[in-house]
Amino acid sequence: MNRKLTRCNAHFEKARQRLPLGVASSFRYWGDDKTIYIKQGRGARLTDIDDNSYIDYRLGYGPAILGYAHPEVDAAAREGIEVGGVFAFGTERELTVAQLIFDMVPAAELVRFSNSGTEAVMAALRVARSYTGKDDFIMIEGGYHGLFDAVLWYSEVEAGWTPGSGREPEVLPYSAGVPQSCRQHIHRVPMNDAEQLEDVLRAHGDKIGSLLIEPMMGNCCSITATDEYMHSVRSLCDRYQVLLIIDELKTGFRVARGGVQELLGVQADLCTFAKAVANGYPISVVAGREELMRQIGDQVVHGGTYTAHSVSLAAAEKTLSILAETPVLADIASYGETLQAGLGRILSARNIPHCFVGHPSMGGMFLADKAPTNYREWVQSDYTYYEALAPELHERGVIVEPDSREPWFICAAHDEACLNETLSAFEEAVDATIEKLSGTEK
Ligand code: PMP
Repeated sequence: MNRKLTRCNAHFEKARQRLPLGVASSFRYWGDDKTIYIKQGRGARLTDIDDNSYIDYRLGYGPAILGYAHPEVDAAAREGIEVGGVFAFGTERELTVAQLIFDMVPAAELVRFSNSGTEAVMAALRVARSYTGKDDFIMIEGGYHGLFDAVLWYSEVEAGWTPGSGREPEVLPYSAGVPQSCRQHIHRVPMNDAEQLEDVLRAHGDKIGSLLIEPMMGNCCSITATDEYMHSVRSLCDRYQVLLIIDELKTGFRVARGGVQELLGVQADLCTFAKAVANGYPISVVAGREELMRQIGDQVVHGGTYTAHSVSLAAAEKTLSILAETPVLADIASYGETLQAGLGRILSARNIPHCFVGHPSMGGMFLADKAPTNYREWVQSDYTYYEALAPELHERGVIVEPDSREPWFICAAHDEACLNETLSAFEEAVDATIEKLSGTEK
């Protein structure tokens, strides 16, 4: 274990003078002496500017489904460059990609593109508000849906809330600068509690136009809706005339070709995708039932200067074709299962309670015996142990998010060598963590 971050640390000192936190997205800041700058990504591996090499299970929060710098996708992207960029006109490839999406996701009858996940969810919410004439919506506790004011709210379960107290967790903005006025439109319910959902609908159904849910919470340990709950959600939405928006930013084209909708056997009214769509080239999708999506062009404005850039579209066509025509998603899931079995063996041998949550292509590691069914239960796991373990993994060349709410993402390039290296690094890291924590207790 001799990782040095000399250049990274020196670069951080310079970068922070021109960039807040020395980075372009706040989630990339890992501390003044722990922030990593990447030189190159290839397959499932990253090399930082100090030439440290890592096996990456963070995968940029999910996009690199086929691995970094995938030769076929990158060749397609180069062809996309030749098309010329963005023109404030359409290109034929928009239809090709929309058709590929519809072929895998039946709910995606009509499709529009944007650049980021945030934009896609914003558009879905706007279409829903326009169609229903109702501004209020329901969010699931623990869900994350992007960086816009309407959804930048969380339920505080870590500080000042006690499980079983009978009190609802406080709902707070994620960020300063989010107008307090947005709070009035949000109703929050825990995952997998259909009764509480119905109570909210009964009490406020006249104001609520949509329910926004990520059924496998890719920002919350991959806590997953049960089939039964998801079917109750679908029928309650129908009964109370509330539109069901399924955010598949992370699950889309990953947990199944048809995403979490296929996995759980439900169909959204509106759904959103990004991440795996183009193996990391910036593109996102809002899609849904024709009747709803026709709001766009009628009453709802949607568009943007960089929408459907020729590079991203070409990469999307290639990525989606590979996902549709090859068994790559099954291979990814199988790697995830083998990895979890190996990690589980190491933890069991040391009597560390654990379980894995969600789909093996984006499994959450939960350090408790029983899988959480909602965000409130996440607090009951030993997440502080996980927070101590993650840096030990980084030291040994394995990248995972230090926050246990972020799942481990698998891509097609994770191979046997990655598996073996990961397991031996994990074993050492677990032992080092045990030692570190018992040292602090003394
Ligand atoms: N929804 C979900 C479920 C996400 O995971 C994310 C990003 N992690 C977003 C929305 C926002 O996407 P973006 O960061 O591309 O704006």
